[in-house]
Amino acid sequence: MFPAMFLLTEIRAGLIRESDIMSTGKNKYQNIYFSSLAAIALLVAASHIVIDSIVSEESLMVEVNEIGGRQRMLSERIVHLLLEYAVEKDPAIQANITRLIEQTNSAFDQTHKLLIRGQISNTDTVVFENNIDALFFGEPEYLDEKARLFIYNTREVLSHDWSPDLISSFYLKELREAAKESLHSGLDELASLYTNNSMTRITRLRIVVAVMLITVIMLVSGIGLFVFKPLFSRIIVQQDELAKLAYRDSLTDLHNRRSFFLEAEKVFQQCQNDELPFSVLFLDIDFLKVINDSFGHAMGDKVIEEVARVCMDNLGSNDIPGRIGGDEFGILLPKRSLQSATTVAEHLRHAMSANKIPGISGYMQVSLSIGVASVTGRDKNAFETINRADKNLYEAKKTGRNLIIAA
Ligand code: GH3
Ligand code: MG
Repeated sequence: MFPAMFLLTEIRAGLIRESDIMSTGKNKYQNIYFSSLAAIALLVAASHIVIDSIVSEESLMVEVNEIGGRQRMLSERIVHLLLEYAVEKDPAIQANITRLIEQTNSAFDQTHKLLIRGQISNTDTVVFENNIDALFFGEPEYLDEKARLFIYNTREVLSHDWSPDLISSFYLKELREAAKESLHSGLDELASLYTNNSMTRITRLRIVVAVMLITVIMLVSGIGLFVFKPLFSRIIVQQDELAKLAYRDSLTDLHNRRSFFLEAEKVFQQCQNDELPFSVLFLDIDFLKVINDSFGHAMGDKVIEEVARVCMDNLGSNDIPGRIGGDEFGILLPKRSLQSATTVAEHLRHAMSANKIPGISGYMQVSLSIGVASVTGRDKNAFETINRADKNLYEAKKTGRNLIIAA
């Protein structure tokens, strides 16, 4: 009986081993791949949060700086209007200037109150960095006090009955002084602190982006090196394995049936082109079934392997043996005539008969029946020659086995 069970067990065992290896490798690569992707995703998300917070901090501080600039402009405007007021004779114009000063002062007051509460707009609230906080509220002369004093002094000036000589009044002097010196120097310092803080934030941003870029590059290179490179190597190895499986017989490592017939056509064409002879042997082991039934399929396999080995040991480098199926072998003999091929067949039959195969109880000897055929002018392809060799093999079997029939 055909040892299907045995082969199936072998194949199954092979497949299980292969799939074990495949799944272990696959899991390893999948783990590295997905962890790296997760790391990249986390890194990108973290960088996004850091960059976003730095950028929004920066944009709020831009507004603080702008408000500082506006305060500077408003304070200058107030002093300018007060000076205009002091030299103005026309009471109607004076009243108009007073109104403008009050409006400007209250705008200054309002923005200052919002600013020190950190409420730089209806929607945005800013938390000052330490150095800016110290500038606004720190001792000895803080900006908040200077601004409040300026607002107070402006109100004081407006509460007096004005005449041109009031230009030299205490409050007006104070205001001019404040607008020129202390208040402005505070607001200027705010601008320079903002510039410094902004530079620090930009440097921090650059570091975050650089670290992120380096890490992503390293992770992507890691994926390339530890996932894709080994994967490609495995694919190449497995491609070779597949090619081998497709063209080789797994038991004997000879050409399998498909590969043998492909080779036969190639050799046929080549010999036809070169006008050289070409012969084919068809071999079948005698009574393999009996060996299987008596000593088991493993012994039958061993006999098949022995036939392959004897063929390999006794053939020339141009000769091409293959396992056609079961216990049947074919041998392509390029450049050999029928007579030369028959000599090879004889040689093989002798070698096999003389070969002692170690068995369960002593040695066993196995004989071969061989059919030989050569390409004739009528053959259109190798298949026709092989067919004749097969028929001759059949004849050899019919005639009594351990025989060679050549025609
Ligand atoms: P014959 O002399 O007429 O060739 O008789 P045989 O017993 O060799 O039978 P045949 O060639 O007609 O059939 C081939 C047998 O070889 C059938 C099967 O039991 C056995 N066989 C085929 N393939 C394998 C194999 O891979 N391993 C083993 N152990 N036996 C095989
Ligand atoms: Mg047989």
